[in-house]
Amino acid sequence: MPKRFTPDAYAAGVLSGNRVLLSRAITLVESTLPSDQALAHAVMEQVLPHAGKSVRVGITGVPGVGKSTFIEAFGNYLLEQHGKKLAVLAIDPTSQRTGGSILGDKTRMETLAADPNAYIRPSPAGKTLGGVARSTRESILLCEAAGFDVIFVETVGVGQSETAVHEMVDFFLLLMLAGAGDELQGIKKGIMEMADAIAITKADGANLHPASSAQAEYQGALHLFSLGASTWSPRVSVCSANEKTGLAPIWESITEYVQLTQQNGYFHQRRQEQHLHWLRHSIRQQLEERFYQHPAVQAQWETISGQVTQGQKSPFAAAAELFGLLP
Ligand code: GDP
Repeated sequence: MPKRFTPDAYAAGVLSGNRVLLSRAITLVESTLPSDQALAHAVMEQVLPHAGKSVRVGITGVPGVGKSTFIEAFGNYLLEQHGKKLAVLAIDPTSQRTGGSILGDKTRMETLAADPNAYIRPSPAGKTLGGVARSTRESILLCEAAGFDVIFVETVGVGQSETAVHEMVDFFLLLMLAGAGDELQGIKKGIMEMADAIAITKADGANLHPASSAQAEYQGALHLFSLGASTWSPRVSVCSANEKTGLAPIWESITEYVQLTQQNGYFHQRRQEQHLHWLRHSIRQQLEERFYQHPAVQAQWETISGQVTQGQKSPFAAAAELFGLLP
């Protein structure tokens, strides 16, 4: 087992901005070993009062939309023009299936990765979405305590992971391609509704005109959605990571959004709701774990689940019977 430190040592290291200890603390929150989890809870308790002071931005879009190129360009822009300290985290539950992993490839975001004011952490591999989401949320808090004031959480725009990311960020940015068609991009209406901003990527060369048309089209589509409790109207812009254009308006949208929602109380309210969401999420996870790990359930599982697959017992009755085994 790799070396472990005391909770005080982890917390002091994270708070002083020590990157090695930050990485080790993230490894700890990603661990499923019960002893590591107890240690992680103790570290989080010390770190929590120092977390929360960042802008958390979720970034999503289908593979190939240009997420990593965009994050590299936009990240460098924030470091150079605004003196920000940026942490980039990723959620990629699909990596279990494909064997690949977003951010896993070391050649991605090369200049950002080499910058002392940026910290890049790939998605943990081999975990369920629920597990990845929980550890990513705790990693956000650790990065904040370590002094990072902008946090990007990158996710692939397919499946459930963007819903989880939406529940842990302040601002949700959807990257889209011009002329690819919504269906091709796997973009469901629900994802567009979550977006606080849409950026049409690769708006350069011959793609400049299609990008502007897509901008008008999506802005029109967004107007059909009614304003949410934030009172923010989602914006659509175009950008090119290659030519480093259109980056400033995206940052302006984010800062204006934060200003508006901090003034009207929504920012704080939403973070409180997110805390509750993660409380419920953790309870669900722990209940499920305890249920399946209970010796009485484990002893009967094979028999009862077999009866269900054979159609001899209804799933509902079987669940009630298994629950009946618990004290
Ligand atoms: P991801 O899968 O969403 O992370 O996408 P990548 O960042 O890996 O980019 C996918 C492809 O699009 C790569 O071949 C990039 O070179 C290309 N690409 C990314 N950004 C731009 C851009 O701003 N302009 C152009 N023309 N191509 C881009």
